[in-house]
Amino acid sequence: MSRKKKPRIVYRKLGNEWAWGQAHQDPADPLIELDTRLGAKQHLEVLCHEALHIALPDLVGDKGEKEIDRLGKEVSDVLWRDGYRKVLLPKHSTPIKITKHRPQGRKRKPKNDC
Ligand SMILES: [Zn+2]
Repeated sequence: MSRKKKPRIVYRKLGNEWAWGQAHQDPADPLIELDTRLGAKQHLEVLCHEALHIALPDLVGDKGEKEIDRLGKEVSDVLWRDGYRKVLLPKHSTPIKITKHRPQGRKRKPKNDC
């Protein structure tokens, strides 16, 4: 079983498409397109929505779109409330190194509920 290829993410104005985002599910070149004019929270929601289209290609039609929409809103809301935001960096800068963060007083990794 081969691993799914990770989608490229491209930013452009999607005015002609009447959409804030689009997912192209070509297995050889999966692509997520996002409109450049999205605000921070809407950007996160549309990114989650389009990523779900790639991850769950069987959810199609009106019913599938409604489910993707619901899941995208739910996941992006959890991420937003936990403080996840896009970090904008100058074009040729090195990405910020993320160090491990361990809340004070906690010594072991908490067990996952699922
Ligand atoms: Zn959709």
